[in-house]
Amino acid sequence: MRTVLITGASRGIGAACAKEFAANGYRVAIHYHNSEEKVRLLCGELMTAGCEVMTVKADVGNSAEVNRMVKEVEARFGKIDVLVNNAGIAMQKLFTDTTDEDWDKMIATDLSAVFYGCRAVAPMMIRDHSGCIINIASMWGEVGASCEVAYSAAKAGVIGLTKALAKELGPSGIRVNAVSPGVVMTDMMAGFSEEDVAALKEDTPLCTLGTPEDIAHAVVFLASDKARFITGQVLGTNGGMII
Ligand code: NAP
Repeated sequence: MRTVLITGASRGIGAACAKEFAANGYRVAIHYHNSEEKVRLLCGELMTAGCEVMTVKADVGNSAEVNRMVKEVEARFGKIDVLVNNAGIAMQKLFTDTTDEDWDKMIATDLSAVFYGCRAVAPMMIRDHSGCIINIASMWGEVGASCEVAYSAAKAGVIGLTKALAKELGPSGIRVNAVSPGVVMTDMMAGFSEEDVAALKEDTPLCTLGTPEDIAHAVVFLASDKARFITGQVLGTNGGMII
């Protein structure tokens, strides 16, 4: 049985990934930061469905906590076959209003966290000569978004990291890919008005916004053996919003 560790699995895209991996027979390590109650409910749901699960709490912007998180999962499940670096924050702000603290928090949570996660699992994956890492980027990391410069920079960094790491770890039997969502209806979209959401929908060729499940399907596919020849890729899941 394969084990997956998903960061930020308490809600949104991460929680949908946890359910989809569980439905595909994986043992699931659910990481969270503050949403303890949500994780308790999700865990109960997956256990009732017969899935082997564990929960682990960490601030992904802190390398010591990420190392401890990976050790906890390894101690309980023996290994990690798939790492999904999904936890993240968004920030809409004028570039000129962005403070050092804003920038540092964004880079720590959305970019350094991916580096810490990959570095923590790489030795065991190299040892096993197998493994798969999927990093959740964003279409704004591909094309840039006005008033989201820090977020776009962090996500562009995730894409660069993914491509470089795929080259470095490929010979060790490890695949590294990114999934790059468009607009997905989660808590992250809470700050957007109904008009903003309608406008985003109108700008999407498929005339609909994404669901967390849409992203989870892409992630589970990339983790599967059906994707055995795919590495270093950025899989756009955006309804055609950027092509
Ligand atoms: P969400 O619903 O806001 O959930 C964010 C998750 O990240 C939560 O599980 C949260 O944990 C965790 N998290 C945040 N800060 C953390 C920290 N410092 N340490 C550990 N965990 C932390 O977000 P989402 O929409 O599902 O987004 C998931 C990923 O997809 C993110 O990387 C995001 O950038 C990316 N994405 C989202 C969209 C979109 O439209 N929604 C589009 C493109 C890309 P707790 O709740 O436990 O605190």
